[in-house]
Amino acid sequence: MYRFTPPIFLLLLLLITLSTVLLTASQSTHQDDQVREEEEEEDTPITRFQQYLRINTAHPTPDYASAVSYLTSQAHSIGLTARTLHLTPSKPLLLLTWAGTQPSLPSSLLLNSHLDSVPAEPSKWSHPPFSASLTPDGRIHARGAQDDKSISMQYLEAIRTLRKTTLPNPIRTVHISYVPDEEIGGADGWGRFVESEAFDELRVGFVLDEGQASVGDQLRVFYADRCPWWVILRAVGAPGHGSRMYDGSAVENLMRSVEVVGKFREAQFDAVKAGLAAPSEVVSVNPVYFKAGIQSGEGFVMNMQPSEAEAGFDVRLPPTADPDLLKRRILEEWAPAHWNLTCTISERGPIRDFKGRPIMTATNDSNPWWSVFSNAIVAAGGKLAKPEILASTTDARFLRQRGIPTLGFSPMTNTPILLHDHNEFLKDTVYLRGIEIYEHIISALSSFKGSST
Ligand SMILES: [Zn+2]
Repeated sequence: MYRFTPPIFLLLLLLITLSTVLLTASQSTHQDDQVREEEEEEDTPITRFQQYLRINTAHPTPDYASAVSYLTSQAHSIGLTARTLHLTPSKPLLLLTWAGTQPSLPSSLLLNSHLDSVPAEPSKWSHPPFSASLTPDGRIHARGAQDDKSISMQYLEAIRTLRKTTLPNPIRTVHISYVPDEEIGGADGWGRFVESEAFDELRVGFVLDEGQASVGDQLRVFYADRCPWWVILRAVGAPGHGSRMYDGSAVENLMRSVEVVGKFREAQFDAVKAGLAAPSEVVSVNPVYFKAGIQSGEGFVMNMQPSEAEAGFDVRLPPTADPDLLKRRILEEWAPAHWNLTCTISERGPIRDFKGRPIMTATNDSNPWWSVFSNAIVAAGGKLAKPEILASTTDARFLRQRGIPTLGFSPMTNTPILLHDHNEFLKDTVYLRGIEIYEHIISALSSFKGSST
């Protein structure tokens, strides 16, 4: 039997090569660590953004205390006053103030963002979602990088620069609010804040809140949200043997109704497909569940027609929709009593403001804040896209409901829309450019003397 015996010099060579490789690897790891440590020690807008992103404020257990503590220290470092409101126990709301030199002005500017974020599934991310890793191509990976910790820190960075350069103090008082619970409906956040005396005392005249990334080079701005309605249709009908064909079973009644809902949905979607309306300008309807059948173990009884059936729909209304008309159509066409159908409509927010007007902020000359805002974008060298209705919902609705003009704006151009998605990131250059844009906006809005509001 042949047996291979490697010559001793070959073994030695292998050993030397291996130890050299290992030594080089350990040296380079050490060097990498050193570089990283040096980067960490630096105090720059990017490292401060990374530090904030590393605070895990994802639901269901957001670390609000650490976020508030970090933002408070940042605020103090640039000379802003800070106070924390506890309108709901364990859900702090941070309020920063940059006092204006003309307190006689009737209203202030408010810059808003939320402290919380949606959860992340780390196993589906290329980088840990709370590492805020900066990759060589400049991407900062983190949950909240776009929604909306970027604006939370950009507000502060812009004011930091303004204080050192052109605007040591603003004419109009600027407040910054960091609120809890936006991602879970805001009842314990803005819901309480907007009803509080603390809010009234701010005398807010104009608000900037979060927007969304733009895949092109135009900046997006939002003047309204859509209002969600959760619609549940319930059908009843005669039960019977699965072999019998008869009219008016519960599932048949529900199927007829679903067909009508489907036609309504198609008409709305056709308007979008034909380019007649933006997706957020129509009433969207999407089925989210169907429930029927008599359960038996893991499955269903197959030879019985059930006496009840139910379907749930997520419906979103733009402020231009007529809620009374839609309600009537739902009752008469989707859930007619002669088909043994009933329905519940759960309105998840107001669609009219306190004066009964559609909840939206004017983006024309009738709103003097709009002109100041849009001119500041131009002055910053930015291009503004046609103002949009946001397809989903933000805290801005609480303010617009009060009749306070509010725009949704997050300066992120040439960026994929990754809010609530895996691998959310923002490029460092986009983040820094956003700070410059806010410098122009905050400078212009806080220097604006003309509005009577
Ligand atoms: Zn958000």
